[in-house]
Amino acid sequence: MTFKELGIIEPILRALSEKGYENPSAIQEKSIPVILKRKDILGLAQTGTGKTAAFAVPLLQKLYLEKENKKLKPQIRGLIITPTRELAIQIAESFKDYGKYTGLKYCVVYGGVKQKRQTDQLRAGTDILIATPGRLLDLMGQGFVFLKKIDYLVLDEADRMLDMGFINDIRKILEQIPAERQTLMFSATMPTNIASLSRSMQNKPVRVEVTPESSTVDTISQYLYYVDRQEKRTLLIDLLNKDTNDSVLVFSKTKHGADKICNSLCHAGITSGAIHGNKSQANRQRTLGDFKSGRLRVLIATDIAARGIDVDDLELVINYDLPDVAQTYVHRIGRTGRAGKSGTAISFCSREENRQLKDIRKLVGNKTITVNKNIDQFKV
Ligand code: AMP
Repeated sequence: MTFKELGIIEPILRALSEKGYENPSAIQEKSIPVILKRKDILGLAQTGTGKTAAFAVPLLQKLYLEKENKKLKPQIRGLIITPTRELAIQIAESFKDYGKYTGLKYCVVYGGVKQKRQTDQLRAGTDILIATPGRLLDLMGQGFVFLKKIDYLVLDEADRMLDMGFINDIRKILEQIPAERQTLMFSATMPTNIASLSRSMQNKPVRVEVTPESSTVDTISQYLYYVDRQEKRTLLIDLLNKDTNDSVLVFSKTKHGADKICNSLCHAGITSGAIHGNKSQANRQRTLGDFKSGRLRVLIATDIAARGIDVDDLELVINYDLPDVAQTYVHRIGRTGRAGKSGTAISFCSREENRQLKDIRKLVGNKTITVNKNIDQFKV
C-alpha cells in the first residue's frame, strides 16, 4: 500500500516523500480512508505507531482542498487538543512537515510560557490550531480564539487527558465548537471513561485499532529484579556501570523520585538528566536535546513527561518503579525494540509493588519476564 493509493494528493505526497515515509503505517492505512470519508474515528494506538500522521495527513488534505475550492481566508477550521506541551510541539512539527506545500497556516498554544507570541500568531490568522486544554481555555476567555468555524476536532491521547484531570476543560471547550463537525479521538488505552466520552462527543465512530494492548514486542528481552526499595539506587548504579549502552531511559513514578535518581547517578559519575512536569519547558527541551545528542547517557522520566518525547532506537529501558497501570508497562518498554531491532527492558520490583507486578504478568504473560536470580531476594 502507498500513500498515493490511499488517495493522498500531490503536495502532501511530496512532503511525505521528503520525510522518507515510503509506506503508510498500519494505523495510517486504517485511519486515512475513514477520515477522508468524513467519518468519526475512535483510534486505539500508542505513540510510535505513526498516529500523528494518521490524522494530520487526511486533515491537511481536507483543509487544503476546501480552502482551494471556497477561497477561504485563514480561520481556525481544525483543532487538535493534546495533553502536554511536548506533544503539542511534536504535533505542530508534523503539521509543518507534512503541510509544507499546502500553504495552510498552523499555530500551537500551550501553557508555561508567555502568551504574546501565541496571540500574535493567532491574530495573524491560522487554519489549524494545536493546543493544550488549559491555555486554550485561557485564550478563549480572553477573546483570542474563536472556535465557531471548527469543522475538524482531534482529541489526542484522550486517556492521558482524562488522567490529568482535563475532562471539565474539554467539556467547556466542546460547548464552543459546532456540533456539526468531524471528531477524531485517539487513545493508547480504552478504559470505560474513554468509551463514554466518545459516546458523548462522537457520531457513530469507526473503531480503528493497532497492536492489541497486551502485546509486548518479541524483540524485547524483559528482566526483573526483586529488590528492597532502599536498594534500588545501588542496583541501578551497578547495572549502569556494568552496562555498555549509550542511551538508557529510566522511568520513575514520581517527579521527586526522578530528581533523586538523577542526583544519585550524577554523584556516581553517570551523566543524566530528568524530565517531568515541574521542569520548565526550556529545561525539558534542553535535557531532551542533550540526551538525543548523546551528551547525557541516562534520561529519567515520569510517564506523563515521557509521553511526548520522540526517542526511538533505545536499547535499554529501566523501570525503576513499576507503573500502577499494567498497560503503562507495555507503553514504557515499547520505547525499545522498535523497527525489528532488539531491546532490553529491566524492571525493579520491591515488596510494596507485588500487586503491580501481578497485574503486569497477567497482561503480558507469566513467562515473558525473566527473573534475574542473582539478586533474587524474595519471591512473589
Ligand atoms: P507517532 O506515533 O505519531 O508519534 O510517530 C512515531 C514516529 O514514526 C515519528 O517519528 C514519525 O516521524 C514516524 N512516522 C510516522 N509515519 C511514518 C511512515 N509512514 N513511515 C515512516 N515513519 C513514519
